[in-house]
Amino acid sequence: MLDSLPEQISSRCIISNNINKITKDGPIIVWLKSSLRIHENPAIDAGIHLANKFNKPLLIYQAIDERYPHSSLRHHNMLIDGAIDLHYNCKSIGLKYVLHISRENNRKPVMKSFAKKASCIITDLFPLQPWKNWVKKVSKISECPFIEIDCHCIIPLTIFGKSLDRPFKFRDATKKLIKTNKLFKKSDIGKIPAKYSDNLPFTPINIEDNLLDINKRFQILKKCNIDISVLPIFDEKGGENHSLLKWKNFLEKKISGYSKRRNNAADPYGVSRLSYAFHYGFLSPVKVVREASLLGTKSAQKFIDELIIFREHAWHHSFGIKDPYCISNLPLWAIESWEKTSTDPRSPLLSENQLEFYESPSNLWNLCQKSLVRHGELHNNLRMTWGKAIPLWTESLAKSISVTQYLNDKYALDGRDPSSIAGVQWCHGLFDRPFFPSEPILGLVRKRELSTHQNRLDFIKFEKFIERHNHIQEDIFLIFGNTIIELFIARILYDNGINILYVETKNNLTLLKNTNLNLNFNKQNYYLYNRFKIILNDLKHKDQQLIIDDIINPIPKIKLKQINTNLIIDNDNNYYTLNNENYFIRGIIHTNQQDYKKFKKSYPNGFKKFELIINYDTDHLFEEIHNCLWECVEFIYS
Ligand SMILES: Cc1cc2nc3c(=O)[nH]c(=O)nc-3n(C[C@H](O)[C@H](O)[C@H](O)COP(=O)(O)OP(=O)(O)OC[C@H]3O[C@@H](n4cnc5c(N)ncnc54)[C@H](O)[C@@H]3O)c2cc1C
Repeated sequence: MLDSLPEQISSRCIISNNINKITKDGPIIVWLKSSLRIHENPAIDAGIHLANKFNKPLLIYQAIDERYPHSSLRHHNMLIDGAIDLHYNCKSIGLKYVLHISRENNRKPVMKSFAKKASCIITDLFPLQPWKNWVKKVSKISECPFIEIDCHCIIPLTIFGKSLDRPFKFRDATKKLIKTNKLFKKSDIGKIPAKYSDNLPFTPINIEDNLLDINKRFQILKKCNIDISVLPIFDEKGGENHSLLKWKNFLEKKISGYSKRRNNAADPYGVSRLSYAFHYGFLSPVKVVREASLLGTKSAQKFIDELIIFREHAWHHSFGIKDPYCISNLPLWAIESWEKTSTDPRSPLLSENQLEFYESPSNLWNLCQKSLVRHGELHNNLRMTWGKAIPLWTESLAKSISVTQYLNDKYALDGRDPSSIAGVQWCHGLFDRPFFPSEPILGLVRKRELSTHQNRLDFIKFEKFIERHNHIQEDIFLIFGNTIIELFIARILYDNGINILYVETKNNLTLLKNTNLNLNFNKQNYYLYNRFKIILNDLKHKDQQLIIDDIINPIPKIKLKQINTNLIIDNDNNYYTLNNENYFIRGIIHTNQQDYKKFKKSYPNGFKKFELIINYDTDHLFEEIHNCLWECVEFIYS
């Protein structure tokens, strides 16, 4: 069966069960998990070839599951952007594409049904858990050939697929393969086969009706068990169309300066910022390298090296070993060195919460962390320095690796990828050599000092870039209220880079109005419980005021009497500017309490249409905050 495929496709395939022949009726199903594009997608190309060869209808199926690590509104939103492009692009060439989003009342095991029904299943190979397990389970019960196909690498994982201890060894070992040039050949996809048109074991999402409009999209997302405190990145769109455009722009206008500009984190446009596009498979690395290599410049070659050596090395490593996350993958010299320094004092020791919300002693590190939380990205050059500082503030190697992975994967758009693991573990010695003499804590592991990096960086420029808002820059939202709910909403919005001002109240802030709180949580609001856990634990022995200060300190604040607005009449829309700055008040979030009433008295007709009143009862605290947060998100993004 695989023989009938062009070599550049067949060489990327593994049959994961022992069924080698297409014998059954039923469609050929292409199950897309991580390669969300139609251009140069070997999974789709293989599907088209086999459907033509065996005269079967073809179905392209994408599932958005809630159970991937750190599933959040940010990552789900990217996947949905990807789905929209897949829908239109498949439609334009006559392929049938359907989307399933796992959510309340819609959690059927769709692939289990396809496993019984299909004549062949093809899926994009992703060498990490939990995806590997999902694939294993379906392939085990499939009654037809189950093919995994590498759509992510230029050197097929199926041909090389080994872990080597240094990038230069990987480069040398794969040189010949790259030189054959066969890898860069575009496969001819042939005629489009018949569409699968029988019944489906689920009702597909109607993309045009339910996902294009942001409010409708949110209605679907509301039913998913995902962390909504990690908000979408406003100015980074997902999907293959945007990624192709971004690549074209970089190729035409920016790549020429890459070798000189790539190490300057204060120059964000000196690099491609395309790693998320590769991670979600919106963009084919084969296409990118083929097009970049036509330039034949030093800069283009440097860019290609990043993709073909550093990125691919990480992928082949993850593919070639059993448990890529395990710290035992570090080289022996590094493990021994970490053991020797394990009792070195760490000062200060920071909690996960302090690290996550940028409370380290270094301004530069805090900005790096903010970049991840707020913008879902961090420049490579600073990412190394950021990662190498974490062991200094955590109690052990294991803790340092797990926290770094967590911070990277929860927030970075390109996270949860083989390159994430390689990057995080490189900071702890992976793929590197020992450096003498031994240093406190880092031992023989290569160091990168924050202060040295800060001295060579245009810090002010970098800071300004990171402090930009993750929303329309001119919009501002005022938040009134003095209970735990407003406090947390204000903090979550602030952390995500929404431009908010918290109106300071004369009334005492109360964290917990009601001492008999019901702290039940469910799958939907577990993420909130997690964040609260630390605070609630602290509450037992800490002063409430200290905790309030901790939450509220970084949030920009204003006093009621300092608010001064100006009405701007703009056709049908009336806008208020705030304190003669270039900010338009786009929203007021409040609980109808005293300060807001006072404020409103001065502007009797003004703010109605920008007003969100949140009502709650603290008997179901997490449910309430989750619901209020959703209201705010809908209010802000719509
Ligand atoms: C602690 C740490 C964590 C990291 N986590 C991730 C991650 O989660 N996901 C991820 O894709 N990369 C990760 N990297 C690698 C690297 O930082 C990013 O790939 C890079 O910042 C992406 O920016 P860019 O697209 O502008 O890269 P460019 O400089 O434009 O490079 C082009 C492409 O080459 C690849 N690339 C570049 N540098 C590397 C590298 N060092 N390792 C692997 N691939 C590279 C990326 O796919 C990138 O898009 C991590 C590195 C470190 C030190």
